[in-house]
Amino acid sequence: MSVLELHGVHKSFGDNHVLKGVDLEVDQHEVVVVIGASGSGKSTLMRTINLIEQVDDGQILLSGDDITDPRVNADRARARIGVVFQHFNLFPHMRVIDNVTLAARRVHGMPADAAVAKGTELLGKFGLGDKVSDYPDRLSGGQQQRVAIVRAILTDPELLLLDEITSALDPMLVGEVLDLVRELGDAGSTILMATHEMSFARSVADRVVFMHQGRILESGTPDQIFGAPREQATQEFLARVM
Ligand code: ADP
Ligand code: MG
Repeated sequence: MSVLELHGVHKSFGDNHVLKGVDLEVDQHEVVVVIGASGSGKSTLMRTINLIEQVDDGQILLSGDDITDPRVNADRARARIGVVFQHFNLFPHMRVIDNVTLAARRVHGMPADAAVAKGTELLGKFGLGDKVSDYPDRLSGGQQQRVAIVRAILTDPELLLLDEITSALDPMLVGEVLDLVRELGDAGSTILMATHEMSFARSVADRVVFMHQGRILESGTPDQIFGAPREQATQEFLARVM
């Protein structure tokens, strides 16, 4: 079964028709990378999946459940998805371990000791073992984004949504964050990620999706999209960014 299915998703802000009928499927263990120019609708797509934005038309299914059904509890649906966005949103007044475990304890009702044990284990596994008790401002931007990823995966979400998670980072720090995403993909996480890092997309994605003016213009394997794009808009975009 697909972890994520979008059927004919539309979203407008006023008279700005941003998503114009998006169909998309992400299978279990699949890493799907969304590329496209600024303003093409990538973040809006991510935000509708996480129910931050309400769709105007169409359906979003998470493991078969229609989460756009108005009767669905949005908080409960959201709790099944791990998200990391461009700007770190760690709480500055909370230690790393508390940042990492807060949602697991508050939203998922995970016992504090179990959450701390799992958080400590994951932080250690991803090279942050000595940061457990630090406050976020003691960490580099790359370390903060890795903490945000650990927070997002602590409760084993069905889907991981990553929106431009390296765009605000010093170029020196991008690699350590992308390496972590690569590890998660290799370990079987289901990931939908918007990024401008084309070489990463090419080497890590199972499938690449090109968004253009609110539509998925084409999608395929990295070799297809980067090696032999069919659409002129895809060719022009890649010529600009590669
Ligand atoms: P991308 O992530 O591909 O750069 P976005 O989804 O951020 O694209 O933006 C697509 C379009 O939607 C832009 O025209 C942007 O101005 C508009 N938009 C996004 N979010 C909002 C919002 N909350 N209110 C109004 N317009 C928005
Ligand atoms: Mg964006």
